[in-house]
Amino acid sequence: MNTPHERAPLTVIGAGPAGLTGAYYARRFGATALVLDQDTRVGGLAQTGTHRGFRFDIGGHRFFTRMPGIARLWRSMLGADFRTTNRLSRIYYNRHFFSYPLEPLPALRTLGYRESAHIVSSYVAARLSPRRPERTFDAWVINRFGERLFRTFFEAYTEKVWGIPCTHISAAWAAQRIKNMSLRSAVTKALLPGSGGPTSLITQFEYPRHGPGMMWEAFARAIEADGGRVRLGCRMARVEHDGARVHAVHVTAGGQTERLPVERLLSTVPLQHLVRAMTPAAPDHVLAAAEGLRYRAFLTVVVLVEARSVFPDNWLYIHEPSLQVARIQNYKNWSADMVPDDRYTCLGLEYFCDEGDALWSRPDASLLQLAGEELAALGLVPAGGVMDGTVVRMPHAYPVYDDAYVGHLAVIRSYLDTFDNLETAGRAGLHKYNNQDHSMLTAVLATRRLFGLRGDPWSVNADEEYHEEGDAQFVDLLTGLEHLEETQPPALDVVGAGTPSRGDV
Ligand SMILES: Cc1cc2nc3c(=O)[nH]c(=O)nc-3n(C[C@H](O)[C@H](O)[C@H](O)COP(=O)(O)OP(=O)(O)OC[C@H]3O[C@@H](n4cnc5c(N)ncnc54)[C@H](O)[C@@H]3O)c2cc1C
Repeated sequence: MNTPHERAPLTVIGAGPAGLTGAYYARRFGATALVLDQDTRVGGLAQTGTHRGFRFDIGGHRFFTRMPGIARLWRSMLGADFRTTNRLSRIYYNRHFFSYPLEPLPALRTLGYRESAHIVSSYVAARLSPRRPERTFDAWVINRFGERLFRTFFEAYTEKVWGIPCTHISAAWAAQRIKNMSLRSAVTKALLPGSGGPTSLITQFEYPRHGPGMMWEAFARAIEADGGRVRLGCRMARVEHDGARVHAVHVTAGGQTERLPVERLLSTVPLQHLVRAMTPAAPDHVLAAAEGLRYRAFLTVVVLVEARSVFPDNWLYIHEPSLQVARIQNYKNWSADMVPDDRYTCLGLEYFCDEGDALWSRPDASLLQLAGEELAALGLVPAGGVMDGTVVRMPHAYPVYDDAYVGHLAVIRSYLDTFDNLETAGRAGLHKYNNQDHSMLTAVLATRRLFGLRGDPWSVNADEEYHEEGDAQFVDLLTGLEHLEETQPPALDVVGAGTPSRGDV
């Protein structure tokens, strides 16, 4: 016999930003939700971990959105604990700090006359004979910055992130991440302040006093206060269906398997896992499409250092090609309350990898040693200066946009569309490079569909230029959610929202 919670009108798999938002939004339909997550804490990729009382993020999580409904919801959840933070994040290369995005005049000064002359002549050469066709990342950057700057400031970091040479990365990625930038526009901006610049840089953002997990813990409490339940340590293994509707999920918890009947199912787990879990099994071509989806994994080596201050930035980009670390977070610079004792600093060294590769499989002690050595090589912490630490691995951090993923998604989507009471949302749930706000929005749209209203989570476009107007239609979806009386929001046409370019790498 299932308890009332286990017969909730909405069952959600995943207690990350998408799953918790979907569950919270169920209140708009007078419904309670049961949220199931395999992890021991809520927040998914946006959780906050702790080590000996020091808090840390999985990647630093900025709260930034152009959707007022989401901004209000975040504020209503945390009140004064949701604070504005100034951004400082620089490139660290060859023991020098360079502003990000690059400011060419100071950068040239720091690099010295000789290197500057090389950079300028390589830029002129690239302008005179640009690389055509401009299909790859290296060609796109070299055409706008010259080869020398590309090798110094773009190549190593990009290859760390994706684990493949820049010659194999699409120019579209560069266009999205380095939008509106070129050496010429950067020099113009430096000489003529106010002449405009890249739209992508966010100089301020919000951040919860105790890290992003604080936000998602507040959502979980609100869901439970509404009569819902958030069950952790509970892995979804199977989704039982009859080809048109899903009937139950099978979860494993504490070595036991349970069958939980479902009325409506919102999944935010990686799409590949959802397809694998379908029982009876999805057709072979759908399974093949799911297996074709690729993910880039991410691990954070969290270290404690006995020093009040190591560097003033929220995070540093590490461009030294000889080192494996890609970014270093300094959590106390995001919020002083992330550390219990200001005499110490807690740093997060971020490594991109593939699940199961040599880095991923390295024992924690060896990763801590590597982190200590790399901090010493960078000159940031003296050798032997790492006191202690921990390692967190995330296998599905980055959905990979390779040549085949669009085709795979089309196959998977048309299969999932055959189920009346199943929706998928979020980042890995849609295989889309969504940040928290867009992950939340996709969950709202998916939940609406599950309750018979219009909305299409696939229409949220995290990759294109932000369209203020296109986005305005979503505002209403979340407006007043924190003081809800009505049960049926007006049906809205939901098409093609965009986003500012401010990805998490
Ligand atoms: C390094 C990094 C930095 C980022 N920085 C930012 C930032 O600055 N700002 C921002 O807004 N966004 C940022 N993001 C993006 C943000 O983390 C995501 O948008 C958000 O976490 C996605 O939410 P989600 O609920 O879709 O997925 P997730 O957060 O991945 O949550 C999915 C949940 O599903 C659970 N799950 C998976 N499989 C199962 C299963 N079989 N059974 C039960 N549970 C399961 C997982 O345990 C997890 O809790 C960053 C992401 C990364 C990787």
